[in-house]
Amino acid sequence: MKPVIIASGKVRPVAVEKLQSIADFRMYAGGGQPPEEMWAAWLQEADALYATGNIRVDEALLAKAPKLKVVVQSSVGYDNIDIDACTRRGIPVGNTPGVLVDATADLAFGLILCSARLLHVGWEHVKNGAWGRRKSMGFGVDLANKTLGIVGLGRIGAAVAARAQASRMKVVYHNRTQRPDDAALGVTYVSFDELLATSDFVLAMLPLSKATEGLFDRNAFAKMKPTARFINVARGKIVDTAALQEALQEKWIAYAALDVTDPEPLPGDHPLLTLDNIMITPHIGSATVETRDAMAMLTVENLLAGLAGQPMPACVNPEAVQKKA
Ligand code: NAP
Repeated sequence: MKPVIIASGKVRPVAVEKLQSIADFRMYAGGGQPPEEMWAAWLQEADALYATGNIRVDEALLAKAPKLKVVVQSSVGYDNIDIDACTRRGIPVGNTPGVLVDATADLAFGLILCSARLLHVGWEHVKNGAWGRRKSMGFGVDLANKTLGIVGLGRIGAAVAARAQASRMKVVYHNRTQRPDDAALGVTYVSFDELLATSDFVLAMLPLSKATEGLFDRNAFAKMKPTARFINVARGKIVDTAALQEALQEKWIAYAALDVTDPEPLPGDHPLLTLDNIMITPHIGSATVETRDAMAMLTVENLLAGLAGQPMPACVNPEAVQKKA
């Protein structure tokens, strides 16, 4: 009997091909939430779940999936998955750290650059036949000799730091724990408050968790320089969106460039979109052909290892397997 593998959203063709060859593979490709009745029937039979960010993997879902042996997701973040609930049931959860570092760091640095030089605004001028009126854009600001403060200097944060250093920026960072390799990386550890007060660009690059939800609130924005540019490539919910809107409107900070928002997708009539000191991309940090294929194939490797009861290449809760044994 082939295992039943279900996917709650679209999976890259390269992974679909592999999964179809070894399993009864069912994929919901309609966008949004899978239809309730169909999804419940799939969960009932599923040996493995290829989860996507549009669903929550929680107690309620797990209770409907009595045969489930493994959950995998093609992302490094897993804030939509209740890891404790999976661990309690002995279900390992696989994610995709590492393979998306460069693509996401490129996007983050692109947003830093756009917030400084307004490339997107320049293009709008040209497209609208307003080249001659480009002075209305004003001037941008240099990256060289400015301070980039990275909150969450992990794999992606370190890769952004390297890009920023190539533009001759100084990099400071804040994690819960100082990195032992920070001198080698050429970055300086500071407190959260010092980072906010001294950075010209503040990049949020840390995971969403109970501790980080709403971390960037009125207090945080009030501590930043009025010339500061805030960039979020982590998760929308680490920012209090109303506070960010106030900070931009009242010019507590100069600019925001976001790849992630709360909510997502951002509705077309959202008040943030009425501001002229913000730019937003639609959560495309890892969205390149090569990276998405690499993420999908790592997800498949995780899934196959999980089904076989073997250690996954990238597992969030390896203790789940011991629990089951
Ligand atoms: P990572 O290597 O685990 O790095 C996360 C860093 O955040 C660590 O250095 C960690 O250091 C720090 N951190 C964790 N909790 C913190 C807290 N409460 N306060 C301060 N620092 C904290 O993860 P990564 O691979 O770089 O990815 C980071 C996040 O980026 C992911 O979780 C994901 O949500 C997001 N992401 C977004 C996209 C996108 O498309 N926009 C793409 C990929 C990833 P300590 O443990 O010492 O605190």
